[in-house]
Amino acid sequence: MSHAVVIGAGIVGACTALELLKAGQRVTLLEPGPPGGEQAASYGNGCWLSPMSVIPPSMPGLWKKVPGFLADPLGPLAIRWSYFPRVLPWLVRYLASGWTEARVLKTAQALRAMLVGAPALHAALAEEAGVGHLIERRGLMYIYPSRAEFEAEAMAWRIRRQVGVQWLELSADELRQREPELDRRYGFAALVEEGGHCRDPGAYVAALVQLAEAQGARRVTARATGFRIEAGRLRAVLTDQGEVAADKAVIAAGAHSRVLAAAAGDTVPLETERGYHAMIEAPEAGPRTPLMPSDGKMSVTMTDRGLRCAGQVEIAGLAAAPDWRRAEILRDHLLRSFPGLPRDLPASRVKLWMGHRPSMPDGLPCLGPARATGDIIHAFGHGHVGLVSAPRSARLVTQLLLGQPTELDAGPYDPRRFGYFLLALSRSRCHAFRQRFGTPLGRWSLDTD
Ligand SMILES: Cc1cc2nc3c(=O)[nH]c(=O)nc-3n(C[C@H](O)[C@H](O)[C@H](O)COP(=O)(O)OP(=O)(O)OC[C@H]3O[C@@H](n4cnc5c(N)ncnc54)[C@H](O)[C@@H]3O)c2cc1C
Repeated sequence: MSHAVVIGAGIVGACTALELLKAGQRVTLLEPGPPGGEQAASYGNGCWLSPMSVIPPSMPGLWKKVPGFLADPLGPLAIRWSYFPRVLPWLVRYLASGWTEARVLKTAQALRAMLVGAPALHAALAEEAGVGHLIERRGLMYIYPSRAEFEAEAMAWRIRRQVGVQWLELSADELRQREPELDRRYGFAALVEEGGHCRDPGAYVAALVQLAEAQGARRVTARATGFRIEAGRLRAVLTDQGEVAADKAVIAAGAHSRVLAAAAGDTVPLETERGYHAMIEAPEAGPRTPLMPSDGKMSVTMTDRGLRCAGQVEIAGLAAAPDWRRAEILRDHLLRSFPGLPRDLPASRVKLWMGHRPSMPDGLPCLGPARATGDIIHAFGHGHVGLVSAPRSARLVTQLLLGQPTELDAGPYDPRRFGYFLLALSRSRCHAFRQRFGTPLGRWSLDTD
């Protein structure tokens, strides 16, 4: 039985550990924080299990808005000036990936393959972990002031239809009947019945990790820093607590995966799209079905911990301090959307959070073998859809790692899809690193990014 080390216990690592166990592997989960804890994007996301989230963030014409992204630090998508030079190559790829409708459709097809049926997969996993109540399947709703705003997003809805998404269109009256506490300014909705949500993503991840441990996985509280690779085979994962001997490894460290990918021979254009949530404890009002208001660009979901609104994209890197004004924008929009919520909400009832979406420029995850050795698989870059896509992604990663036929075409998620330029750059950077620090070939470690 070979020994697989899964690096990172967010939703992607947790699901991958369970798949590997099912495939008969001995599994160790490496995670420096509490599984499902606040350090992970998997803790604070919007809770949506949305098989229709197939539209990548970059769409045709987005380039015209870049000056606005730089000028308005509090807009729904903002780029910090100080980070702009660093993020420029990623941004160019990001804009290019959504340059034409045909490109967006191609991405949507690849995402749909990963997402379709996901709420049922999550329901089964949660049931097995003894937390079946955390997954609800009552649909997801996009709400608009009127049909005109819905029609203004015609391209996105056209592409959704082309990849098989169906929805019900609700009039103002129908919306009111379904959502009596919602502000009257919303007069049109698109309800996607196949959608679901998780009532507490942090608790869900923690339960999945507990299930993995109950099935024999070992959990080690440590941070991976690199790999020991000899003659093209993985021998150990290096950590801040020493080596962990391993035959296989999965890099599932979310937005922190880039340095580990580099240690496995690949330069990948992974960025953090920082996002925020505001959560009102014991809310006086809220939605029955999770909502996405078109004028707020955020998800609004009733969770076990409170009424959560999540959204915003801030490009500022992993290290910059959170800008809590962004979470306050979300909170204020939520208050305007539900008149039953008190205007004078005490700060103690509102919890703010910031996390890192691990994002590739084309909106597709990076799933596939590392350049240095096929014993290491990349499993990161799930961007805006990591929660919903984790079960299928985990299955694909397991099949790739074990050399089995894959049930999905792995091509669209290939870590090398970004071309030879980056690979060449990667090789020269690794070479330069080795020359400078004299690290023996096949063994180099990095502390943190
Ligand atoms: C505001 C917001 C809203 C979102 N809404 C949704 C949504 O509604 N639906 C959806 O599907 N997705 C959503 N997402 C995206 C989703 O949350 C992420 O794509 C997903 O959680 C990524 O999971 P992950 O396991 O790859 O990374 P993470 O959850 O970040 O987990 C990575 C783990 O790796 C650990 N780690 C880091 N470095 C190391 C190391 N060197 N060694 C070992 N471990 C390490 C970290 O401690 C962490 O626990 C949202 C994200 C944000 C920020």
